[in-house]
Amino acid sequence: MEVKVNQDLCISCGLCVSNCPEVFSWNEDEKAEAVQEQVDPEMEDCVRDAADGCPTDAIETS
Ligand code: SF4
Repeated sequence: MEVKVNQDLCISCGLCVSNCPEVFSWNEDEKAEAVQEQVDPEMEDCVRDAADGCPTDAIETS
């Protein structure tokens, strides 16, 4: 699984960074970004939950 955060859609709510800190962190624009684009298999459930919970659907997985 690959993951990216659409910077135009992220409203910096913090949900993904709180729930899945191994994958998401804040960048210099104070928006969330994926620190690993290729997600470790054990992190995939966390990333799916984060994508489902993101209020603006900014988290894109493939
Ligand atoms: S959950 Fe969505 S809107 Fe909130 S910080 Fe993460 S990417 Fe941004």
